[in-house]
Amino acid sequence: MRPFEYERPTHLDDALALLDEHGPEARLLAGGTDLIIRLRDGSIRARIVVDVKRIAELDGEIRDEDDGLTIGARTTMTDIAADERIRRDYEALAEAASVVGSVQIRNRATLAGNICNASPAADTAPALLVYDARVVAVGPAGARRIPIDEFFVRSGVTTLARDELVSAVELPRPTSRRGAVHVRRTRRRGHDLASVTLTCAVLADGVTRLAYGSLGPRPVQVSDETGLLADPTAPDLAKMERLETLFVGASPSARSMRASPEYRLAMLHLLGLRAVGTAIERLAQGTVRR
Ligand SMILES: Cc1cc2nc3c(=O)[nH]c(=O)nc-3n(C[C@H](O)[C@H](O)[C@H](O)COP(=O)(O)OP(=O)(O)OC[C@H]3O[C@@H](n4cnc5c(N)ncnc54)[C@H](O)[C@@H]3O)c2cc1C
Repeated sequence: MRPFEYERPTHLDDALALLDEHGPEARLLAGGTDLIIRLRDGSIRARIVVDVKRIAELDGEIRDEDDGLTIGARTTMTDIAADERIRRDYEALAEAASVVGSVQIRNRATLAGNICNASPAADTAPALLVYDARVVAVGPAGARRIPIDEFFVRSGVTTLARDELVSAVELPRPTSRRGAVHVRRTRRRGHDLASVTLTCAVLADGVTRLAYGSLGPRPVQVSDETGLLADPTAPDLAKMERLETLFVGASPSARSMRASPEYRLAMLHLLGLRAVGTAIERLAQGTVRR
């Protein structure tokens, strides 16, 4: 690992000043489960690493607000997976957080780090897309909210400016009943990223929202507004045809060591169909209610 300076500011202004001073040479450190590995293998080089864990204005809390939940930048996957409010109203996010890496990884890994790393395979990204999450970015000009669908650009790249950091992720309060689920395919649980990661939410008004990752440069969200996918009586064959239309933009890399494009596409469709079935069941059971 190349040597770097290490700073652990206690105030947001000091962290932002370091980002401003060092530009692309500075890297933020949260749980370090992505960053340290990439510093070690040299795929990221940093002159200075700025640890966010002591910044007073960034917390690891999950707060109730008037219009939903706010997840602080230091909140770990373990805390998200265990939170009763998330398990009740955003259960696919709780499920996604609970399958990230191993127990040790989840105890350190933050939601903010997961999205800022911007891996197309990030497990929480599909759930955040389906739930219309917003990313709160703070910089020298103050705070701004970025819809999650506008946050991801491609692997390792987001619309966050160089002098900004993520202070929280907001989840809007559900406006109607829905059933949702997160599913994935991976070679080795706890050690490897997903070959396919997918979230499905079936809403009480008949709309089905699906988001998937690991099949292109960034996670993607699609919707079925025809009511076909949400119809418990519609045949699987018709649903599969609908999913094929919705997933037409999936473009898995042929160079990946994890799985062939053909395997990923087949799994995307299969997991998509199963997820629709589970989400319909959960909607009927009323597991997510407001
Ligand atoms: C063995 C192993 C298994 C894994 N399995 C999975 C898996 O199954 N699913 C999955 O999705 N991921 C997995 N990961 C990846 C990783 O654990 C997650 O992406 C994790 O959520 C990253 O969070 P972190 O807090 O550790 O981020 P860090 O490593 O600290 O940072 C990641 C990136 O985000 C930036 N960053 C961090 N916080 C902020 C902030 N507040 N504002 C702006 N930028 C910020 C950093 O500068 C860095 O570029 C795995 C990693 C390992 C090592």
